[in-house]
Amino acid sequence: MLNLFYHPIYTSAISPHARFPRTRYRLVYEELCSRARSRPELEIRFLESGILSGEYLHLVHAASYIGAFLEGRLTEQEIRRIGFRPWTPEFVERTLTIAGGSIGALRKALESRNGGAAAGNLAGGTHHAFAGHGEGYCVFNDIAISVQVARKEYGIQRVAIIDCDVHQGNGTASIFADDPLTFTYSIHGAKNYPFRKERSDCDVELPNDTDDAAYLIALRSTLTDALARAKPELILFQAGCDPLKEDTLGKLALSREGLRRRNAIVFDHVAYWDVPVVVFMGGGYADPIERSVACHADVFEQLAMHCHGQR
Ligand SMILES: [Zn+2]
Repeated sequence: MLNLFYHPIYTSAISPHARFPRTRYRLVYEELCSRARSRPELEIRFLESGILSGEYLHLVHAASYIGAFLEGRLTEQEIRRIGFRPWTPEFVERTLTIAGGSIGALRKALESRNGGAAAGNLAGGTHHAFAGHGEGYCVFNDIAISVQVARKEYGIQRVAIIDCDVHQGNGTASIFADDPLTFTYSIHGAKNYPFRKERSDCDVELPNDTDDAAYLIALRSTLTDALARAKPELILFQAGCDPLKEDTLGKLALSREGLRRRNAIVFDHVAYWDVPVVVFMGGGYADPIERSVACHADVFEQLAMHCHGQR
């Protein structure tokens, strides 16, 4: 049984006037419910994300930044850099609920007794958040918080972060730049945001319009070595679907099938290492948004099948 965390606030707390495709969270949830209804072999349990308590933010983020965000004291420039406007108390609740979903998923994956140690959050993967500031639709870095909780509460030492969102995981790379036990892998568009890249342990940079074949060769030829260096006890997968050709912010040219093959390569590696995996939704901004929704749902469907295969 795959545990997936979700909450309606993922969509409802974003202004309907925002350019951001707020409905995608609800649509991915509904799509997965519908697939699970029609396919009994897809064993998915949805759990409601809870609010993450503030103390966990301090494992990663600067106290001054945490306080400014929670209390509504960010400057207009800092809010613009994050990209969600306006700041509202409900947006704060959403931010903490998404992080709560990620930590909930981490706990489920690590506490699973019967194998199939996997779980996911139908949001999150907020990899552009740095210790002291947010940007690119990311406030707090739920991936980084997950690493620290795994370390502090579960005795996990070595973690690999596989970031397949089309945008480099710059915040994550920066947070773990000096941490030899956390391996950061990012495969992304060379000529896309963030235009000033940070240094991950392994960065795979792809030219604009990269197609399925070139992408999958690049992934396969780097991921095996990366994980051999990482020797992970836990894998965190940022499964952004914005490398899709129809994505408005992606600049690459993968098909839905190409993304499915990408996911399969990642899950094959997870199976090889036989370690728990947590999946974060990441970006997806296709027009129409249903194209992204189908790909996000594919990720979690494939995770459910991976989970099933591990029992
Ligand atoms: Zn992205």
